[in-house]
Amino acid sequence: MERTLSIIKPDGVAKNVIGEVIKRFETDSIKIAAMKMIKLTKTQAQGFYAVHRERPFFDSLTDFMTSGPIVVMVLEGKDVIAKNRKLMGATNFKEAEDGTIRKDYATDIEKNVVHGSDAPETAAFEIGYFFNDLEIQER
Ligand code: GDP
Repeated sequence: MERTLSIIKPDGVAKNVIGEVIKRFETDSIKIAAMKMIKLTKTQAQGFYAVHRERPFFDSLTDFMTSGPIVVMVLEGKDVIAKNRKLMGATNFKEAEDGTIRKDYATDIEKNVVHGSDAPETAAFEIGYFFNDLEIQER
């Protein structure tokens, strides 16, 4: 059993696709072990995306991530990190496979609807960034 962090980014919340994204997880037998809606400060967004601080899009990305509420979730299941990445599709929606969340709803390489941890180490850091143990249910 594995856990990963999923975020419905401000564009996804604004587009009213929270339910659609969650439906795709549940249809794929992924369990939601924790969930909340929050609005990040710039400092919190910079901390979350610290690995990208040297990238040219860091300032724009952290501005975007603070532009509205987000939904953060802990997902649980077998191979859930890879499974979630497959449901999300490629970072650039133009390269994403048909039927993926980003292909269906993203409008921009930055405004790409969802975030998902890419490895067990990043999942552990990202889950801990938003949730403590008491807020995560065993599913
Ligand atoms: P992910 O793991 O698929 O989310 O992709 P990355 O870890 O490479 O990038 C993190 C996030 O930064 C992406 O989801 C996008 O929101 C944003 N991003 C990635 N590449 C670019 C880019 O070339 N330009 C801009 N403006 N944003 C980008």
